[in-house]
Amino acid sequence: MGVETFYDGRLQVRLICDKCDTSTVVSAPSYHLPKTATAQQVKKGIAELRTSKSVIQKARTAGWLVNKQTIACKCCLKNRNEEKMNQKISVKKVASTATKIEPNMKSTPAQRRDIRKWLDDLYDIDKCCYKENNSDHTVADLCDGKVLWGWVKEIREADYGENGGNEDADLMVKEVKRLSDTIDKALATSEIAQQDFRKAYEANAAKMQKAHDGLQARHKEVNDLIKKIKLKG
Ligand SMILES: [Zn+2]
Repeated sequence: MGVETFYDGRLQVRLICDKCDTSTVVSAPSYHLPKTATAQQVKKGIAELRTSKSVIQKARTAGWLVNKQTIACKCCLKNRNEEKMNQKISVKKVASTATKIEPNMKSTPAQRRDIRKWLDDLYDIDKCCYKENNSDHTVADLCDGKVLWGWVKEIREADYGENGGNEDADLMVKEVKRLSDTIDKALATSEIAQQDFRKAYEANAAKMQKAHDGLQARHKEVNDLIKKIKLKG
């Protein structure tokens, strides 16, 4: 449970899930810790590595959630999200039967600064979409504490870009379009090939029929000749 570092040619960070013993290894960003560092300094360095954007991003690519409070592997994260979902559903049920409680949660200035810090990093203003597979939800997850994705959306729409999509989704759309175009082209080519084949087949069939008719006529002539010879004999 926690973070370990080790050298494997370069500095690697092993993240260990809080709940189960599953671990994953991500390479550390270039990081300089003096050889004479005290245990205290090493501890601090490892803590800094854990919350470094590079490590958090790499872990997230592997499906892990890492922040100051939590290290959760893919499976535990999935279970946790399902639990949260179930809790939300039961809360909703209670709320609908009892008095309606409006949480009316608002982001704090520190949370908004945190959101902006991640948006600066992960939102591509020129392309007007998130980089890679990021989204309002992933930014909310990356922020410290409980940050609602709706807050991220609000800040993103006001100051970064209207589009909440991301590069990966755009790439996927492009890739699907490219595949569809390729199949369209192949279908058209196949149609032309079929027509050509049919034409060639029909032309050959006519030729073969002609040859067949010719052979039959010859056969008849030969038979007649044989009959005549027999008669003479
Ligand atoms: Zn786990």
